[in-house]
Amino acid sequence: MRTPEELTEAFRLRGLKVTPQRQSIFRALHGNHRHPSAEAVHAAVVAEMPTVSLRTVYQTLNDLAEMGEIQAFDLGTGSARFDPNVAEHHHAVCTRCGAVRDVYPDVSDLRFPRRQVPGFTVLGTEVVFRGLCDDCSTSASSDPPTATPPTTSRETSSHG
Ligand SMILES: [Zn+2]
Ligand SMILES: [Zn+2]
Repeated sequence: MRTPEELTEAFRLRGLKVTPQRQSIFRALHGNHRHPSAEAVHAAVVAEMPTVSLRTVYQTLNDLAEMGEIQAFDLGTGSARFDPNVAEHHHAVCTRCGAVRDVYPDVSDLRFPRRQVPGFTVLGTEVVFRGLCDDCSTSASSDPPTATPPTTSRETSSHG
């Protein structure tokens, strides 16, 4: 993705509206490696500019994707994730918190099994590694004892 200043220029050249709201969305995405959902972009932008609607965020993300400035991925985390990294890369996804990291594995050995699906034309390959991020794997190994609710079933048997 280009810088917010360059994007402003590119939007104008295409005859697209450039508003302070949209520029705030550019800034929220620029250099963002967290693969935010539209909702996460919205939350970041609203902190700076409370008048931005989720609809504006969606529209701007769509425009950016159409221009090839960002990529949209469905990584199985429940919502589309947006990525200003448009270089060819793959992803490591935390199955617990949905954190996404860019990875660059060597997939040159990965061949499509043409004998299994002869009539299929391959246009691209996406590799998703699923597992636990650092935060989640440390919290998973040390089971918090607070997970079990305190037993408050005190017998109140009244004699009388
Ligand atoms: Zn995690
Ligand atoms: Zn990515």
